[in-house]
Amino acid sequence: MAPTAEATGGCLCGAVTYRINGPMRPVVYCHCSQCRKTSGHFVAATAVSHQHLTLTGQAGLAWYRSSDIARRGFCKHCGSSLFWEPAHGKYMCVMAGTIDAPTGLASREHIHTADASDYYDVCDGLPQFEHDHPGLWEGDGK
Ligand SMILES: [Zn+2]
Ligand SMILES: [Zn+2]
Repeated sequence: MAPTAEATGGCLCGAVTYRINGPMRPVVYCHCSQCRKTSGHFVAATAVSHQHLTLTGQAGLAWYRSSDIARRGFCKHCGSSLFWEPAHGKYMCVMAGTIDAPTGLASREHIHTADASDYYDVCDGLPQFEHDHPGLWEGDGK
């Protein structure tokens, strides 16, 4: 059951802040090379409906079109990676580490493990998917 959250978060310097008031999907870890490059390791992200995400500060927000299917939101001042938005616009992924703790979130699975780097093991017992899979977003918080 997805937590119905009232959460806040933002970047390292404070030039991007947001508020979430709605269900958040459990955290998905993505090991694709793009997530590794942008995060410096691998990405941990929840996802929310657009109507439940309010940008409360966006002076630092910039977007990078990282592929045909998505763009990534980051802070142009401090470099924090905050958002991954699919081109179809049905939801917004929010990098879990940018949410002010306690988040109330739990982690669900790993995706794109075929692209994981060679210096770590994925061994926490959560389900692993070598690539993408359907059902990453099945509606509010699921
Ligand atoms: Zn910042
Ligand atoms: Zn990824």
